[in-house]
Amino acid sequence: MFVDEVNISVEAGDGGDGCVSFHREKYIAAGGPDGGDGGKGGDIVFKVDDNMNTLIDFRYKRKFSAEKGGNGGSGNCFGKSAPDLVIKVPRGTVVRERESGRIIADLSGDEPVVIAKGGKGGRGNAHFATPTRQIPRFAKPGFKGQKLDLKLELKLLADVGLVGFPNVGKSTLISVVSAAKPKIANYHFTTLTPVLGVVKVAEGNSFVMADIPGLIEGASEGVGLGHEFLRHVERCRLIVHVVDVSGSEGRDPIEDYEAINRELANFSEDLANAPQVVAANKCDMATDEQMARFREYIEEMELPIFEISAATTMGTKELVSYCAEELSKLPPLKVFEPEQVPEWNPEELAKDRSFEVTCEDGVYFVEADWLEGIIRMIGPNDYESLQHFELVLQSSGIIAELENQGVSDGDTVSVCGYEFDYVR
Ligand code: GDP
Ligand code: MG
Repeated sequence: MFVDEVNISVEAGDGGDGCVSFHREKYIAAGGPDGGDGGKGGDIVFKVDDNMNTLIDFRYKRKFSAEKGGNGGSGNCFGKSAPDLVIKVPRGTVVRERESGRIIADLSGDEPVVIAKGGKGGRGNAHFATPTRQIPRFAKPGFKGQKLDLKLELKLLADVGLVGFPNVGKSTLISVVSAAKPKIANYHFTTLTPVLGVVKVAEGNSFVMADIPGLIEGASEGVGLGHEFLRHVERCRLIVHVVDVSGSEGRDPIEDYEAINRELANFSEDLANAPQVVAANKCDMATDEQMARFREYIEEMELPIFEISAATTMGTKELVSYCAEELSKLPPLKVFEPEQVPEWNPEELAKDRSFEVTCEDGVYFVEADWLEGIIRMIGPNDYESLQHFELVLQSSGIIAELENQGVSDGDTVSVCGYEFDYVR
């Protein structure tokens, strides 16, 4: 099965937590704080693998998470950074943020791309010693790793794309000009997956041709097959429009030609404006009048036309040379530029100190995501960490809001699930 579109989720690793520890050694009284920092969480990295040519593997595995960084240790030991999680994709995979549809990366080159960043490690208590706070019994939790819902789309990389109605001879053409061996048969939709072939023009001069499943009218609106394959022509630098000039299936070649162009235009303006060359195929079966009528029609639009017979290879060499010549003048393969994706900035997020205070049956509930990590890291019986905690409640405005809502001495305050007695 050919799968060229999938949804997956990725989660980079969280940073490791900072450590609370104090230097202890025989004969050395009251060593200072020596809790080390947590390590960085693993990144999610995408890399091209040329052994893959579909996204089918992602049908079965859709969630990917990188590991959390190691926690800091005593003796100022840093936590281990977690390894990156490398996800392999076929060349030409375009990665989008699912909800906004924005392009994050186009995996066309060989460079690995970081898609989601691992969180930084939290700082150990060694950082928090001050002249007035010599025994910090708290450290910082690691920052969260970036989480993303992604849509992957495979857009093949081919210089030349063959388009046309089913059965006009596209597969036959690619099979005679390249080593590709697609299925060829006299029934519609023999080709169900795009096939790439390398066309050698001369020593050291070759280009890639793609045989795209036949388009039919209404394809761009999703009628039948075709539409889903148009994205594979999107990057092509040159389109070879194959037409059965003999009308062997009872259709009119001119109508065919116009119908396919309408499909391209409905799919995208870029496709409609892409340079085109017309291959009038099945010449061996066409009458002279048929040939003349079609040629006249195409030449009137000042488009290049080649009369060929793919089955007997007549005229295919000339077509190939022309393509090579044109390609040498055309811009390189289209690579999609990343679009502005909201920067992931965990430090900024951590600065977001929004909270909600509600009162129910005399108990005050404080909800704030950012506070959770801080609470997890404080020593509940330690005076100095409690002082630090109180400072945080004070500076973030939580105390003011509690008082605003009428809290008084002895009331119960529940902060992110931890309960305290309120004492002024
Ligand atoms: P596709 O659907 O466009 O890929 O068409 P195919 O390459 O599978 O060809 C469809 C049918 O047309 C097959 O039976 C081919 O043998 C036949 N065919 C292809 N090219 C020619 C040609 O130049 N002349 C003749 N007479 N038949 C051809
Ligand atoms: Mg075919």
